[in-house]
Amino acid sequence: MSTGPAISIRNMVKRYAGEKGESGKLALDDVSFDVPQGGIFGLLGPNGAGKSTLINILAGLVKKTSGTAEIWGFDIDRDMRNAKRSIGIVPQEVVFDPFFTPYEVLENQAGLYGVPKSMRRSMELLRAVHLEDKKGAYARTLSGGMKRRLLIAKAMVHSPPVLVLDEPTAGVDVELRRQLWELVEEMNSEGVTVVLTTHYLEEAEQLCERIAIINHGKLIANKTTRELVDMAREKIVVLTLDRDVEALPTHPAFLKCETVGERMIEITYDMDRINAGEVLTLIQGEGFAIVDVSTREADLEDVFVSLTSSARQAA
Ligand code: ADP
Ligand code: MG
Repeated sequence: MSTGPAISIRNMVKRYAGEKGESGKLALDDVSFDVPQGGIFGLLGPNGAGKSTLINILAGLVKKTSGTAEIWGFDIDRDMRNAKRSIGIVPQEVVFDPFFTPYEVLENQAGLYGVPKSMRRSMELLRAVHLEDKKGAYARTLSGGMKRRLLIAKAMVHSPPVLVLDEPTAGVDVELRRQLWELVEEMNSEGVTVVLTTHYLEEAEQLCERIAIINHGKLIANKTTRELVDMAREKIVVLTLDRDVEALPTHPAFLKCETVGERMIEITYDMDRINAGEVLTLIQGEGFAIVDVSTREADLEDVFVSLTSSARQAA
């Protein structure tokens, strides 16, 4: 496949079986989106949103209720074999047979995928995930971080064009998170399309060009990271003034104005209607001298909160 999306999902629905005749959990509610080729795509959502359910459907581990999905142009029902060959999945849970070495883990997995011996690249992959020196160690002796990296190598044994990581950094420390981000960026720069699910906004914002947001099984946004951040029209300025503030200033473009410390006020304003310079002029016009100023841009977190809360209101 040379053009078209890396992954295409249409009207995906998953309802888990309920207990004793009750209707079960609707984990995916008519989800449709495309993952373009070549980038790092973020599937962002809080715990329980339906991210793993979607990934596990692509992996063939969960049976969808309805809808279709194509991986690298191959339909997961009609062309399951090619669809599977086109994707490598790093599951959320870390599980290994403790008595295999990293090298054996990769060789076994290559065997499962029918990769002929001459085409295997176990050592190359161990190098790529910086586990070369752990080639012969038992899996049970690896640290948590090493196991995560080994899982990434394991997902790549059949050289799939698409790599999916389900919450690669949930519960890992800052240092390991940084290492995993680097690894993901390396894989991507070598041409692999990467999809990662995360509930960390910061992670999606830093790593992904494009982000789909899923909440309560529904897709509520699918945009470039830039577009999402631009959706936040709020800007915040914190001012330290030369004297006590008796009455807080008001203006139609101020969304909020509050006292945040001694002689300190925080003004949230609509950046489409007024700019920081005008805010300062207004305050000075009220007879204050400004001792200190800091501003903050709305970030993805602000967008996320407003999107997920409006989705709750609509539901
Ligand atoms: P996420 O990965 O975004 O945290 P999941 O896809 O794991 O979300 O879960 C989505 C919803 O489906 C949750 O409410 C979860 O409790 C439910 N769920 C997940 N797996 C099962 C299952 N095997 N049986 C029943 N409900 C499930
Ligand atoms: Mg999950």
